[in-house]
Amino acid sequence: PSAIVKKLFLEGKIVTVNQEISYEEAENIAMEYDILCEREVKVDVIEELLKEEEEEEASLKDRPPVICVMGHVDHGKTSLLDTIRKTHVTDREAGGITQHIGAYTVDVDGRKITFLDTPGHEAFTAMRMRGANSTDIAILVVAADDGVMPQTVEAISHAKAAGIEIVVAVNKIDKPSANIERVKQELTEHELIATDWGGNTEFVPVSAKTGDGIDDLLETILLTADILELKANPDRRARGLVIEAELDKGRGPVATVLVQKGTLHVGDFVSAGACHGKVRAMIDDKGRRVKEAAPSTPVEILGLSDVPSAGEVFLAHENDKTAKSYAETYLAQNKEKMLEETRSKMSLDDLFSQ
Ligand code: GDP
Ligand code: MG
Repeated sequence: PSAIVKKLFLEGKIVTVNQEISYEEAENIAMEYDILCEREVKVDVIEELLKEEEEEEASLKDRPPVICVMGHVDHGKTSLLDTIRKTHVTDREAGGITQHIGAYTVDVDGRKITFLDTPGHEAFTAMRMRGANSTDIAILVVAADDGVMPQTVEAISHAKAAGIEIVVAVNKIDKPSANIERVKQELTEHELIATDWGGNTEFVPVSAKTGDGIDDLLETILLTADILELKANPDRRARGLVIEAELDKGRGPVATVLVQKGTLHVGDFVSAGACHGKVRAMIDDKGRRVKEAAPSTPVEILGLSDVPSAGEVFLAHENDKTAKSYAETYLAQNKEKMLEETRSKMSLDDLFSQ
């Protein structure tokens, strides 16, 4: 304590031992001391920063739901995402170019829904390993002509373990052999009971092929989101997840991130795992350059020192020094863990849209 009091004193701030200091001040001090401290202490600094802070109720504002699509292979995950994108993201918005950045946002009745649409859904996989979530609601796609299959069951258990709300999309209802009631019956065995059967799981019959039921599905997602009361504080430094990242020949490291809290701005100093940098430019899912990104918004960011892994937490920092020192400490601490994660990339990938 005396070292902290002295440090603040030398900066011209007079504090006593039992006085509260701001989060920023504490963060600065932690970062600075961390450089001098032993390994054990460094872990604490990283964990402290990664901890989800309590937010003041009054600072919380509604945010769009973040959705992923799960289900058995060939039940129509990719087709469903394609149909939603085609019918709800207009060319006009995209300026004629449909950009693919692993996540996209659609407008439904003036409200937004964010879809994660990444190959193998890497962010979800990685975040599950870290015990955190990228998604609010999972659409469980079950083909009405095929019913519940092994990966359907696996998907349910993953969603449940992660505490994610499930909405069932009974797909391929255009097929003559479609049997919606059978899907409902089979899913009761997995504690997903349709609302019209007295349960509380929404079942929406759809056809990714004809587009039938897609609007109902989106409405149902919005109703589910209302019940979940999804909120975030947009007025703080940004925090979120890396959805996917790659090294672009011309642009250098490009990361698609999902902002979960706060607002990310061009010019912000950020870290993502062992990478850091200053956000040089941001591009939204419609290929437009944007200056800021609010909670639940996916954006591509340029300016990182390196290519981060999908699922990594990204944080905006007060300055370049804290961003860099965070990344360096993270690297020193996580070399082993990062290797392990690459090794154990699970079959979970198969469950998600790709
Ligand atoms: P995924 O493996 O879950 O991503 O499934 P896909 O989206 O790749 O779909 C598997 C196959 O089912 C493809 O041949 C699709 O054209 C077909 N399919 C997907 N949705 C529908 C649908 O609503 N109706 C019909 N008839 N076929 C569909
Ligand atoms: Mg697919």
